[in-house]
Amino acid sequence: MDSVKKLIRDIPDFPKKGIIFKDITPILADPTAMAEITGAFEKQFEDLKATRIAGIEARGFVFGSVLAYAMKLPFTPVRKPGKLPYKTVRTIYQLEYGEGTLEMHTDGVGRNDRVIIIDDLLATGGTAGAAVKLIEGQGAKVLALGFVVELEFLGGRKQLGKNKIVSLVTY
Ligand code: AMP
Repeated sequence: MDSVKKLIRDIPDFPKKGIIFKDITPILADPTAMAEITGAFEKQFEDLKATRIAGIEARGFVFGSVLAYAMKLPFTPVRKPGKLPYKTVRTIYQLEYGEGTLEMHTDGVGRNDRVIIIDDLLATGGTAGAAVKLIEGQGAKVLALGFVVELEFLGGRKQLGKNKIVSLVTY
């Protein structure tokens, strides 16, 4: 994944002072890197007998949709509040300052679904942990989580219990 790591751009003080934002848009512009990422996820997840991929808004939609297509699985969007048009379930979680909310359609997952959650980046784990709760709250099983990038020094894995976690590029 060295070639993928080289594409990730550090943007200091975005969206606020003190944050180094990992800009993955150069990856999206590189079909070889996208194929490498999708292939690596597929290899890690192929034996899990997953029935569905869930992607977290917004960059998780991109990597999650491509993986769902490659694995021939349905895709479920997990979104920020007020965006989904049909009936929704929601979960509220703690951010560094204040609260965040994630929503999913009530038919986003079924009780028999075995789900892999995809996002671009694992930082503190609050967002991915909330997605796990939302999906498990609907009676589905979370099998694993996949991230293109993990900021290991933030210890986000602790929020994600015993689930299998795959991260392709680490800092
Ligand atoms: P967290 O809930 O702290 O694990 O944050 C993860 C979510 O916030 C992911 O959806 C990321 O896209 C985004 N995020 C958090 N920190 C960064 C960062 N340094 N660079 C880019 N995205 C980030």
